[in-house]
This record gives sequence, C-alpha cells and structure tokens, in this order.
Amino acid sequence: MRLVLATRNAHKAEEIRAILSDRFSYLTLRDLPEAPEPVEDAATFEGNAVKKAATLARWLAQQPAFCREPAYVLADDSGLEVDALNGAPGVHSARFAALDGSGMQGRNSPDAANNEKLLRLLAGVPAERRTARFRCVVALISSEGANGMPVEQFAGNAKTYEGKCEGRIAFSPSGAGGFGYDPLFIPEGFDKSFAELGEDVKNQISHRARALQKLRDHLTSNSKG
Ligand code: IMP
Repeated sequence: MRLVLATRNAHKAEEIRAILSDRFSYLTLRDLPEAPEPVEDAATFEGNAVKKAATLARWLAQQPAFCREPAYVLADDSGLEVDALNGAPGVHSARFAALDGSGMQGRNSPDAANNEKLLRLLAGVPAERRTARFRCVVALISSEGANGMPVEQFAGNAKTYEGKCEGRIAFSPSGAGGFGYDPLFIPEGFDKSFAELGEDVKNQISHRARALQKLRDHLTSNSKG
C-alpha cells in the first residue's frame, strides 16, 4: 500500500518511516512537486493536520497515477508549547520569529531565529518554570472517493492520533542532531537535549513517535480483526 507523506521535511519523513516501517511504500511531497500545500491557518494542530491530509488526498484522487489505485495520505502538525509563554509558540512554532516582522507572518523562520526568540522571551525564567512539551497530531485519510468532494466535507473521513512529549527548555542550545527546537528541548527523564540524544532515543519518546505508535497500533488491530 502506498503512503504519501504530506511533508518535505526529510527528518520527519525518516522518523515516520522508522516507526511505521516497511508495511507501506513511501512517497513524500519531494516526489510530487506539483502537489498543493495549504496554508496552515487552523487554530489547532488537529485542524492543520487534517487540512493538509485532506487537501493532498483530494489532489491525488485527480491524478491519473492515483485515481485507479488509491493511496493513504499521512499529514502531521506539531509544535512546542511553553508553559511560561502560555502555550506559545504552539501552532506558530515554525514561524515564531517571523511573527515579529511586518509582511513575514506567512513565512517559516530559520530554526536559529526561532530558538533565539524563545531564549530571549525566557530570559530570567528559572529552571523550574521552563516546563514545555512537544505536541503532534497525525491525520490519516485515504484518497479513495475524494475526487469532486469539497475538501472540508472530505476532511471528515480523516482519523487523527495525538502524541506529546513533556520536557523543559534549556538555557542555551546544545547538540548538532535533529531540527527545529531540538537543541533547546530536554525531554523529561534526561539531562541532554533532543539534538544531543540522537534519533534512536528521539524515535522512542518523541511526540511524533507517540502519535505514530497510536496509528500503528490502530492499523495492527484493524489488520488482525
Ligand atoms: P510543522 O509540524 O511542520 O508545521 O512544524 C512545526 C514546527 O514545530 C517545526 O518547524 C519546528 O520548529 C517545531 N517542531 C515540530 N516537531 C519538532 C521536533 O521534533 N523537534 C524540534 N522542533 C519541532
């Protein structure tokens, strides 16, 4: 079965493959340069994940290579929630630094700029109040029957799975692995950042891993029943 991952992020695609393994053959948006990428303007991770999955599934259903043999589409939306910032950056995690600039609100920001802003806003906040979590929602939907349906209506077919990973924000970045806020995020039970811990550890405990494990369990119990 083909699984189309609604992402261009190679790190994310690798994490997803490592967890769901060889039950699927994988494609990503890098293989489908014409595919639409909707604006992520929902107020929740779930809203954005479902919108991404349903938009791509509908487009696939209109492509000759997919209209005979439907595929599954998996989209995720994720971000960092920092308690001392009332849950920010949240759904704005990818464009956190750009929120400050005029006319830049729709654009993602470089990871370094997001991390600098986070440290700036947390200056003077002591260790015990630097609690945070990564949250991820994955949405899964089949492209079957999507052709001609309004995206909003078709989106009702999506199944969603949520995972979170509790931790805290360090006082300075460390480590060279991962992406995004990984150099600043120290997961609960560890004293190293995600960027230092490496992919093997991250793939066991990350927000995305936990959401995908729920999805994998669902697929396994469905294939048994
Ligand atoms: P999106 O889910 O692709 O919209 O990305 C949300 C943003 O949240 C990313 O650009 C990162 O800044 C951040 N983020 C999500 N997951 C992770 C992670 O596993 N590590 C570090 N940053 C992450």
